[in-house]
Amino acid sequence: MTAPAAEPTIFERIAAREIPAQIVAETDRVIAFHDIAPQAPVHVVVTPKQGAYRDVVELAGGDPGLLAELVDVARGVADELADGDFRLVFNTGANAGQTVFHVHAHVLAGRLEEGSLAG
Ligand code: 5GP
Repeated sequence: MTAPAAEPTIFERIAAREIPAQIVAETDRVIAFHDIAPQAPVHVVVTPKQGAYRDVVELAGGDPGLLAELVDVARGVADELADGDFRLVFNTGANAGQTVFHVHAHVLAGRLEEGSLAG
């Protein structure tokens, strides 16, 4: 018997254009969009289009090339929307503030408050 297909994550549904989002960058495997609840002047979520990996530890072990691609998209977003400097935050685990268990990075840029972190 085959296991039932997992429900798509909210970020997979954004990548499939089922849920609207302000998309700012995209490659074949990665998508970037403005966070719905921004914690910084520029706050963009960068995530693989497929939700195969729950967090950055799984992604780094399973597909380091995709992690590198995600970081490269984050750099491009910071170049495009800010001055090129940025903070990259991967909340990892519920106790660290992770609420969506589909690996994603928060790109935070533009006159950041001292000590501000997403999540
Ligand atoms: P986490 O807390 O898992 O590190 O980050 C999840 C992020 O996704 C949060 O910052 C939250 O505001 C954002 N988010 C959750 N749902 C949506 C949505 O439907 N659209 C957008 N653009 N962002 C979302």
